[in-house]
Amino acid sequence: MTKILVVSDIHANLAALEAVLIDAGEVDEIWCLGDVVGYGPDPNACVERIRDLPGLTCLTGNHDVAAMGEMPLAAFNSDAKRSLLWQKEQLSEENMDFLRSRPRDLTVRGEASLVHGSPRDPIWEYVLNTLVARMNLTYFETPWCFVGHSHFQAVFQYLEADDEFTIEVPRPGMVYAMKDRAIFNPGSVGQPRDRDPRAAYALYHPEMKQWEPRRVEYDIRAVQERILAAGLPPRHAERLAGGW
Ligand code: ZN
Repeated sequence: MTKILVVSDIHANLAALEAVLIDAGEVDEIWCLGDVVGYGPDPNACVERIRDLPGLTCLTGNHDVAAMGEMPLAAFNSDAKRSLLWQKEQLSEENMDFLRSRPRDLTVRGEASLVHGSPRDPIWEYVLNTLVARMNLTYFETPWCFVGHSHFQAVFQYLEADDEFTIEVPRPGMVYAMKDRAIFNPGSVGQPRDRDPRAAYALYHPEMKQWEPRRVEYDIRAVQERILAAGLPPRHAERLAGGW
């Protein structure tokens, strides 16, 4: 049986990424929905860890684009901006090249569209509610679309009879039977914002058509110390403990 690890928004948090890779166990492929860098203390180490994973498909996210210097930083708040300038300074040429060569969207296995934001606006739009999910339905042709960006673990399933989406926030241990059309968000590895500070990710089981959102604990305090030691905004350390 094929098992695919779906991650997003690692945000330079190596400890969280390592915890996810261990918790996921052996997988056939890894799909990363962008924002490998931004916010956290380990941009180079995260790019290198991701880059070297076998079976990797990796997109670009808004923070990756900004760290490469290919987007005006005015779009970000002042703390995010400060962190992005630091990331840009830190990133090696080789790691910049890796980020630069990432696609913005992709169809994989003929059944899933991958984007960072939304199918309609792959870099910037947040799919946070059923209205936005509904408006995006005509922008992807595959049964499923996997998105990141919001840092919220969520499942949006389309009910054809009602021409409507439902939204579900996964509880621990839930495994979803994937309906004919749906949008899935694995949550954020390195900076969850759904008030659960544990690293978020998902396993996708294509033959069984199952989506399995998961959470795993990691050493948040150690990452907070590294953020502060690097002179990054203290707010980015604080929020990790609360998951906001
Ligand atoms: Zn992000």
